[in-house]
Amino acid sequence: MTNIVIIGGSFGGLTTAYELRRKLSPHQATITLIAKDKEFIFVPSLPWVAMGSRKLSQISFDLAKPLNQKQVRFVHETLVQIDHEKKKVTTDKSEYQYDFLIIATGHRSANEAVEGLGPFGGPGHSLMSAPETEELGTALKNLLQDPGPVVIGCAPGASCIGPAYEFLFELDHLLRRNDIRHRVPITFVTPEPFVGHMGMGGAGTIRQLLENCLDERDITYMVSKEITKITKDTVELKEAISIPSVLSMIIPPLGGISAIASSPGLSNPKGFIPVDDYYRSLVADNVYCVGVAVAMPPVSETPVPVNFPKTGHMTEQMAVIATSDIISKVKGGRNREENTMLAARCVLDMGDKGVYMSVSPVRPPRNKIPSISEGRRWLVAKKAFERLYLFNARRGRRVPTTLGW
Ligand SMILES: Cc1cc2nc3c(=O)[nH]c(=O)nc-3n(C[C@H](O)[C@H](O)[C@H](O)COP(=O)(O)OP(=O)(O)OC[C@H]3O[C@@H](n4cnc5c(N)ncnc54)[C@H](O)[C@@H]3O)c2cc1C
Repeated sequence: MTNIVIIGGSFGGLTTAYELRRKLSPHQATITLIAKDKEFIFVPSLPWVAMGSRKLSQISFDLAKPLNQKQVRFVHETLVQIDHEKKKVTTDKSEYQYDFLIIATGHRSANEAVEGLGPFGGPGHSLMSAPETEELGTALKNLLQDPGPVVIGCAPGASCIGPAYEFLFELDHLLRRNDIRHRVPITFVTPEPFVGHMGMGGAGTIRQLLENCLDERDITYMVSKEITKITKDTVELKEAISIPSVLSMIIPPLGGISAIASSPGLSNPKGFIPVDDYYRSLVADNVYCVGVAVAMPPVSETPVPVNFPKTGHMTEQMAVIATSDIISKVKGGRNREENTMLAARCVLDMGDKGVYMSVSPVRPPRNKIPSISEGRRWLVAKKAFERLYLFNARRGRRVPTTLGW
């Protein structure tokens, strides 16, 4: 009997668990999923929670029920350390031996990169987690009562840039619906060398499309900028520029979680795990890593650092590739799964419409001309995908990644 341990219960961990169990019966493998959060949260919908159009309860569910139904043991504990030489995982409550280990622990928000980037340690807001998003939602309600200038953007070294654009355009739309947009000057500040770079080197005509959207919505934007400090009423840039703001939402750079960073030999200095094409650790036997926890270099050097994005869609593809490798080892035989991540597909919510982007491969130069399309139908599709994903995930089923998000 093979003993498989998965750490993380989000897109990477859950996809791995469902895929492994689909192909390995309980007689072939025991599967244990350890996560510090007992709920799965559909993270791409967090901007809607901040806007007040979703409650957290609508986009989350308890992991225990669907996992137990699939005969995957769910353990609600926090990883403390991995000893890959002894094939042992230590949590805050216990120890687990493994034959195969899959790490899908996501990120740590490196808020300390910018002085004042909170929300719990400073005045700047963020939406990288559920508590931060709920706090931002409260700050937004206050803004609607007492309007003033807003700064939205990303800190130097950020990689999760798409949500900053979504929040920006959703906020613009919300303010217009409340007839107060004329009382809220909005500035977008980004380390990207051009609008729509998003850590992927841009995608087809996305730059022109976003620039047009920013211009027609009277949103001031600044590229290649380094935010250095956030105060109660300003956002400060390196060039001694001070932008007034009563509310700021700044996406931080990310690092790996501290338990991984402190596990000897597994990660790079940022706490991310270097892997090969099958998402196998380069140093540890039978250890895999998928999702945001994976180390990936930026596409190129930029005047202000911008890191490579690791989206939910990519995370699912990584999980499928890693799983297929584990299954071929457990069952014997050749791994038939393609070992390259084929595409990044996503839909950006622009408030009154959606923008669909598909790039393949993810890193330039690209074989295919990126596909960019805009319209209300994409917003409808994004909302439908959220429902479809949650409906299936709650029932122990995976939504095929080819759909894109
Ligand atoms: C606001 C926002 C909007 C986004 N929108 C999109 C989008 O529209 N489309 C898209 O494709 N992607 C989007 N993304 C990116 C997507 O959410 C991530 O790629 C995805 O969540 C990564 O999944 P993951 O499994 O790697 O890690 P995470 O989702 O970060 O989950 C980490 C898991 O590890 C667990 N964990 C962490 N530390 C420990 C520990 N010490 N012990 C045990 N368990 C631990 C957590 O409980 C959690 O279950 C968005 C991200 C954000 C923040």
